[in-house]
Amino acid sequence: MKIDSLPIPISLRTKYSALGITELYPPQAKCVEAGLFTRKNQLVAIPTASGKTLVAEMAMQKEISDGGKCLYIVPLKALAAEKYEDFSGKEVKVGIATGDPDQRDEYLGRYDIIVATSEKTDSLLRNRAEWLKRVSLLVVDEIHLIGDPSRGATLEMVIAKLRYQNPNLQIIGLSATMGNPEELADWLNAALVTSEWRPVDLREGVYYNGAIHFHGSERIVQTPKKDDDLNLLLDTADEGGQCLVFVSSRRSAEAYAKRAAVVLKKKSEALDLYAEKIAKADTTPSGKVLANSVKNGAAFHHAGLPRAAREAVEEGFRKGEIQVIASTPTLAAGLNLPARRVIIRDYQRYEAGVGMNPIPVMEYRQMAGRAGRPRLDPYGEAVLIAKDRDAVDALFESFIDAPAENITSQCQKENELRNHLLALIATGFAKNRAELDGFMEKSFYASQKAVHRRLDRNIGKALSYLIGSGMVTEEVGGELLGTSFGILASRLYLDPETASLIRDVLEKQETFSAFGMLHLLCMTPDMFRFYLKASDEKLVDEVFSERGDELWCEELSEEFFAAVKTALVAEAWCEEVPEEVICENFGVGAGDIHAVVENLRWLMHASARIAHEFAPRFDRDVRDLEIRVENGVKAELLPLIALRGIGRVRARRLFDRGITTPEDLLSAEPKDVVGILGAVLAKNVLEQAAKKIGRVLDEVPLPEEEVVPAKASE
Ligand code: ADP
Repeated sequence: MKIDSLPIPISLRTKYSALGITELYPPQAKCVEAGLFTRKNQLVAIPTASGKTLVAEMAMQKEISDGGKCLYIVPLKALAAEKYEDFSGKEVKVGIATGDPDQRDEYLGRYDIIVATSEKTDSLLRNRAEWLKRVSLLVVDEIHLIGDPSRGATLEMVIAKLRYQNPNLQIIGLSATMGNPEELADWLNAALVTSEWRPVDLREGVYYNGAIHFHGSERIVQTPKKDDDLNLLLDTADEGGQCLVFVSSRRSAEAYAKRAAVVLKKKSEALDLYAEKIAKADTTPSGKVLANSVKNGAAFHHAGLPRAAREAVEEGFRKGEIQVIASTPTLAAGLNLPARRVIIRDYQRYEAGVGMNPIPVMEYRQMAGRAGRPRLDPYGEAVLIAKDRDAVDALFESFIDAPAENITSQCQKENELRNHLLALIATGFAKNRAELDGFMEKSFYASQKAVHRRLDRNIGKALSYLIGSGMVTEEVGGELLGTSFGILASRLYLDPETASLIRDVLEKQETFSAFGMLHLLCMTPDMFRFYLKASDEKLVDEVFSERGDELWCEELSEEFFAAVKTALVAEAWCEEVPEEVICENFGVGAGDIHAVVENLRWLMHASARIAHEFAPRFDRDVRDLEIRVENGVKAELLPLIALRGIGRVRARRLFDRGITTPEDLLSAEPKDVVGILGAVLAKNVLEQAAKKIGRVLDEVPLPEEEVVPAKASE
C-alpha cells in the first residue's frame, strides 16, 4: 500500500518521503484495512520494529486534520521526550505533560497531540483537567503493560475512565506480541491486528561451545578469548556489525562495557569526542568508566545515566562509531537502537524471596526484536548463551519456541483497588456503590473472567478501608463522598496508605526531625527504596543505634533498613555532599540520586499539604525541607534560595563570602555582589531582597557592566 494513496496530510507524506518511506509495511497496511482512518478501535500486536509508531502517527494526523485532539500514552518519561521529537512538526502542535502531579495543566489543551505517561494522565483525570474531555483519539503505547504488576492497574483505569468520559473515543493500542491479544481486543471493542512479519529476517539461536545453533543450521564462531560473550561480540565486529548485549543489572552492564573496551580497542576522533561529552555530563566513577569504554568503542546504557550521557551513547551507536552497548532490559522496549546481533546474556533475574527466575518470554522477544537494522543488515541475529549442552534445547524450548505469556489485569490487588476506588469516588466518577460496581464491571479485570463474586467482595473490602481511614464517608442514602482528606490524597496522587501514614505519624510527633521525615517518606509504598547490599549493613546498623531517636517509624522490617539507606542518600543530597562522594559512599549511580530526589520532591510536596491540614505546627519545617530536597541545600542557604535566580551554586558562593541573608545582600559591597552574580542578576536580586524586607531602594547602586559575570552552572 502506497503512502500516496492514504488520507493523511501532505506535510506528513513529505516527511515520510524524506525518510525514504514510500510504502506501508504489511502489518501497517492491515491496520488501514481494519479501519485505522475510519475511527475504528484497534489493538495492534505486532513484533518490535515493525512500525507501530508510524501507524499511530498517521491516525493522529488524520484525526487532527478532522478537528480532533490526540493523547499518546507512553510507559516511561524518557520515551515521552522521544515521541515528542518524533511527532513534532510545523503543522501539528505537540506538548508533553510533565510537572507536579496535582496540577491540571490546562495549557495542554492548546496542543493537538499531548504525550504523557499513564501516571501523569491519571493525575490529570483526578484533577479534572477539562481538556481531557476533548481528547478524541487515544493511543496507548506498550498497552500490554496493563499486565505489569507495578503499573498495570493505573494504565487500565486510565483507559477505562477516558472511555467513560467520552464514549466516542477512538482507541489504538500498540503492543508487543502477547499470548491473549483477543481478550484485550475484546475489552477495547477493537479490531485485532496481529502479524509475524518483520522488516529484517530474524534468526534466533543458542550459542554453545564455539557455535551458534539455529533451527536447522549452525554458525561457527572464532574463539580467541575465553569468554563466550566477548567472542560473540568480536565475531560480529569482524564483519563490521554492531551488538546489543542485554544483562540483568546496571553493574553487569558497566562491567561488560569495560571488558568489551579492552578487546575492541577501537580508536577514532569521533569516539574521543563522545567520550569527552560523556565525561562532562557524568562526573561520577560510573561516568568515568563509560567515557573510558566509549573511547574504545564500547558503552553501557541504563536508566541511571544522566540524559546527556545517554544521548551521546545513542548517537554514537546510531552513527556506527560505538560498536557495542551493554544494557539492562528496562530500556529494551523503547530503545529504538537496532543492531546486527543481539546477545541476550542474562535470561534469568533475581527476585526477592524467590531466587533466580527466567525472564518472561515477552521480554525476551522485545530484546530479540532489536536485532537487524532495516535496509542495512541482511538479517538480524538474537543469541542466547547456554552454559552446557543440555541447556541448548532448554533455551529453545523456554524462549525461542515458547508462546508469549497471557496478560492479566492487576486490579485484583488490594492496594491497587483501594487507590483507584478512592480516585473514582473523590472525582465523582462514582457516587454510590452501584455506580462503583457499574464502573468496575466495565474494567478489563471484570471482562477477563467470571470474577463478579470476587470483585464484589474485593470492592467491599477496599471501601471499608477507605471509610475506616477517614477518606470516604457513606451517607444515609448510600451516597459515597470523598472527605477533604480523601480528596487531597487522591489529588496528590498518593496511595491511600501513604497518605494515612504521613498524616498519622505527623500528628503524633512533638518535635520535627528532618531525617525522621525523610525516612518516613522512604517507608511509604509510594517511594522506591535502594536494595541493601551486604556492605551497607554496617552503616545502616550504626545509624540505627546512634540516630534511632531521630527516626519516627519503629517497625524493624527489611523495608525499614532499606528506607534508612535511601533516607541517608537523600540527607547527603540535602547536606550538599558532592554527587560523586554520595555515589562512592552508597554504591549508587548519579541517576539514582536524581531518582530519589524526584520521588521525594513529590512526596515532600504532598506532605506539606498534609501537614498544613493535620499538623500545622510543622508547616514551616516541612516546607523548608521540601525546598532543601528540591535544591539540594543545607538549611543555612534557605534565605538566599528563596530569591528568584539563586540556585544552589550561587547561594553557596554568596554564603561562603559571608552574604547569608537578603539583609546581607543589601549591606554588602555592590561590587562583590556583581562579581558573584553578574550585573543583571545582581540588580534583580537586590530589588527582590529590598522588597522582602520592606525597604524601598531609590536606586540600585551598581557599577555599570564593569565586572564579567561569574559563570555559574545552574
Ligand atoms: P515499533 O514501534 O514497532 O518498534 P517503530 O515504529 O519504531 O517500530 O519503527 C521502526 C523503524 O522502522 C523506524 O525507524 C521507522 O522510521 C521505520 N519504518 C516504519 N514504517 C516504515 C515503512 N513503512 N517503511 C520504511 N521504514 C519504516
